[in-house]
Amino acid sequence: MSGYFPILRQRVRKRTFHSLFLFVTSRCNSLCRTCFYFDKLNSKDDLSFDQIRKISETAPPFEKLWLSGGEPFLRDELPEIVALFARNNRVANVNLPTNGLLRERIFRSIDRMLAAAPGVSIDLNFSLDGLANTHDAIRGVPNNFRRTLETIRETEKRYSNVRRLRRNVLTVITRENYNEIVELGLRLAGENLSGHYFEIVRGETPDAELKRLRRDDVAALHRRLMPFHRHYARKLFAHLPPGARQFATMYYLGNLRLHFDLHESCLEQPRKWPMPCTAGETTIVIDHNGRFRACEMRGIVGNLADFDFDIPKAMTSSAMRDEVDAIREANCWCTHSCFIQESSKFSPRVQLFTIPWAWLRQRWRKLPQMPLGDIERFRALETT
Ligand code: SF4
Ligand code: SF4
Repeated sequence: MSGYFPILRQRVRKRTFHSLFLFVTSRCNSLCRTCFYFDKLNSKDDLSFDQIRKISETAPPFEKLWLSGGEPFLRDELPEIVALFARNNRVANVNLPTNGLLRERIFRSIDRMLAAAPGVSIDLNFSLDGLANTHDAIRGVPNNFRRTLETIRETEKRYSNVRRLRRNVLTVITRENYNEIVELGLRLAGENLSGHYFEIVRGETPDAELKRLRRDDVAALHRRLMPFHRHYARKLFAHLPPGARQFATMYYLGNLRLHFDLHESCLEQPRKWPMPCTAGETTIVIDHNGRFRACEMRGIVGNLADFDFDIPKAMTSSAMRDEVDAIREANCWCTHSCFIQESSKFSPRVQLFTIPWAWLRQRWRKLPQMPLGDIERFRALETT
């Protein structure tokens, strides 16, 4: 029975501060045409370590730290920043994206991070946005795909026995790559990753053409991507006893199907989520320079420097309260998975009905949605 309790406990929870999104640096060595932060990159006004310490010391305990940038590994004190939040705020999980280009720097940082923050689980998310030529063209770095894949393989060699370091790939779906994402998924399914996740390109990007996606195309792609999630779910929960394994798998797949549903329904027009967005209430986003907002998609609410880098003061400020009211009144919507994930955690209705229902629907739709050739190649991979 013990395997059920953590899963059940997470289904119904009070709306309290839960996640902090921190852009640890504006420095970046990529030129992605998908980057919503493009106009702020390499701007030489990163928060100092002491300012981040103050943020950590004033913030209440919370569960999840979403790191962002820039390329986070360009921040020298990255392990010490993670250690701060582990120690002061009892953070349980860190989400860490990377372009995977700086292999040795990544390994040095991860080694220090694992030692400095024992007990914290880390989701290391490598960006791969298509097969080699497409990926390199979207991200503006020659040989980027090859270099990132080498880093992924080396990470597997070094850390395969470190269970709390999950090695994932994140793929941003755009007009230029959606035709080859199944092929990318098939190739990566042989790489012993922990997961492969898919996000729709979002925000103001340098190349607006990449955002010209049709809902029907995205929906068709999503149906072909669900088998990859099932593949990774089997590996992720293999260590659990049978009942708890099925329960965890149901929530994992139902959750991912819900994300796909909202990506599709909110792609072309405003569409209400099945739960209120909790941005600004359970989360805060802190830019590299200390400006803060409710979420990554909306405007700046204030500057932490004006609040002495004190998180409760910023969260309870009249500007943040007005922003939360505005989000509620607007029935705000978007396709941003991080906030879909955050907000769904605080909706018992979504946890107890919408997600199990989404799981059931993806089971009924099962294999017929995957072309025969893909199914055969996928089965071959599954048995190797
Ligand atoms: S998406 Fe990430 S890696 Fe790419 S330019 Fe923006 S910050 Fe850099
Ligand atoms: S729905 Fe999206 S854009 Fe609106 S507040 Fe939530 S995360 Fe931000």
